[in-house]
Amino acid sequence: MPSETAFDAVIVGAGFSGLYMLHRLRQQGLTARVYEAGTGVGGTWYWNRYPGARVDIESQEYSYSFSPELDAEWVWSERYATQPELLRYLNHVADRFDLRPDIQLETRVIAAIFDEATNRWTIATDRGETLSARYCVMATGVLSVANDIAFPGAETFRGPTWRTGSWPKEGVDFTGQTVAVIGTGSSAIQSIPLIAAEADHVTVFQRTPNFSVPAHNGPIDPRVAADWAQNRARYRAEARESGFAIGMVQQFDKPALEATPEERRAAYAERWARGGFSFLGAFNDLITDRAANDTAAEFVRDRIRSIVNDPATAEKLAPKSFPIGSKRLCVDTGYYATFNRENVALVDLREEPIEAITPAGVRTSAREYPVDAIVYAIGFDAMTGALGKIDIRGRGGAALKDRWAAGPSTYLGLMIAGFPNLFIVTGPGSPSVLCNMAVAIEQHVDWISDCIAWMGHRQLGAIEATEAAQDAWVAHVNEVADTTVYPLANSWYLGANVPGKPRVFMPYIGGFPVYRDKCNEIAAKGYEGFAVTSS
Ligand code: FAD
Ligand code: NAP
Repeated sequence: MPSETAFDAVIVGAGFSGLYMLHRLRQQGLTARVYEAGTGVGGTWYWNRYPGARVDIESQEYSYSFSPELDAEWVWSERYATQPELLRYLNHVADRFDLRPDIQLETRVIAAIFDEATNRWTIATDRGETLSARYCVMATGVLSVANDIAFPGAETFRGPTWRTGSWPKEGVDFTGQTVAVIGTGSSAIQSIPLIAAEADHVTVFQRTPNFSVPAHNGPIDPRVAADWAQNRARYRAEARESGFAIGMVQQFDKPALEATPEERRAAYAERWARGGFSFLGAFNDLITDRAANDTAAEFVRDRIRSIVNDPATAEKLAPKSFPIGSKRLCVDTGYYATFNRENVALVDLREEPIEAITPAGVRTSAREYPVDAIVYAIGFDAMTGALGKIDIRGRGGAALKDRWAAGPSTYLGLMIAGFPNLFIVTGPGSPSVLCNMAVAIEQHVDWISDCIAWMGHRQLGAIEATEAAQDAWVAHVNEVADTTVYPLANSWYLGANVPGKPRVFMPYIGGFPVYRDKCNEIAAKGYEGFAVTSS
């Protein structure tokens, strides 16, 4: 590792975002260093090694598009790639583009302070290093900080506890064990069928049931792979023109409420048979009209009732408290059918909340459930969690955590007023998690890279969002969110899963193409809404 301490840019995080950011900045001939807390690259796909972890967008689409050579040489084995395959892919990218010499692993960035005299960031790590960089790019991830385990008595449990978001590299053998799984989000829904197949007994503790659609996963059909290889450029372009940046969703351009009940059922059944997120594309009003949404939600509830043998369990698993799609839709392999197994039980925490973790297991208001091991699948402090862990100070020493005390404010989800030369990849206020993240990340990294090049050509010292542009953008983000059913769910999009977090709808739901065009237009107008300072 080189010993210099001054860079054109420091990048925090070595996942999908940080790897590509490094590549783009090096292509410009800039000096850049990536700092990553983990012992390897890969971000999400390095940390989330729980059984069943896999992508929820078809593998070809959830990959970089910037290098046709990379695209052509990498062959995905399954329709929805597993975590090990995704991790191999990201390691391959790091090797193929020779990124490793500029990545320092096992190093956490703990502070980033802006120096107004030099227009540079001073960055401190947990290894006691201090670095200086003109630009600081936060590629810290939107789902990279786990929620705290706040159950009383959690530390008293006698057996092992596991977290889906920091699963051990060597795996976990549940053979012969009785296991508690707490949570029923995507991570739990993917892992429960596999844990149940291995363990003696699994008790699932569910606070809110989730909507899940089948993945119909399997090896990629050679005809599909050949078609993709031949028409890759077109598919990539179609993805970039789709609202969720997922080409294969193909939204049907008709409102559900204009269809007859038979037409609706047929459309939902066809999408259910296709699998994955295509379900939400069955009609064009599912996320804007609650009544339309109810028709899709009821279809899924009926499917749950038809899969799960015990009617009482089926009813508990059927989500009724929020519109389908207003929390990220889960994509599963055999989740609901797992509740037909003799060795799986469901505990509804709405009926009997968890009171404590005891040395022997989980105690609810009704009884104690003794278990050998506990799996916590309780989610993340999403979108702002990783930034909140770093002491970030902008102009006048202002702390980001104070600026964001009432919720995050950004301009385009890319920059923050008062924090010059600090970029966020897929930050709050951008489409981010409402999209195929691979597409969202590439668009952000390209924009940031172009902005830095523009600054360099003009020998400018600092760029930052103006307060006026930021306020207008935040108002727009909220306005658009309010035209949809998204705010009706207590989701992590709103911070509702973290006690005390301000309730603000964080991602931008205006659609990927609209957002991208806006970003491009702003850049073309000489970075409208940004203020620049000379060197
Ligand atoms: P990450 O992959 O989260 O990487 C951020 C990295 O920054 C981490 O390695 C972290 O250790 C590091 N870091 C953070 N703070 C610091 C610090 N202070 N100092 C040093 N290092 C730091 N999206 C989809 O579009 N489709 C999917 O199917 C999908 N599946 C997912 C499954 C799971 C289990 C999870 C958790 C998320 C999933 N996502 C999915 C979202 C996923 O996070 C993104 O797709 C993408 O991987 C994010 O890449 P990233 O590089 O921006 O962030
Ligand atoms: P999540 O969706 O936030 O789910 C967390 C679960 O834990 C929820 O069921 C939640 O219940 C429950 N929970 C949290 N705190 C609890 C408490 N104190 N007591 C009882 N239950 C509690 O988290 P996740 O499953 O890790 O997924 C997060 C996101 O990561 C997903 O939405 C998705 O974007 C991504 N992801 C994708 C995939 C994939 O398929 N590729 C897989 C995993 C994750 P409530 O709903 O009541 O809060």
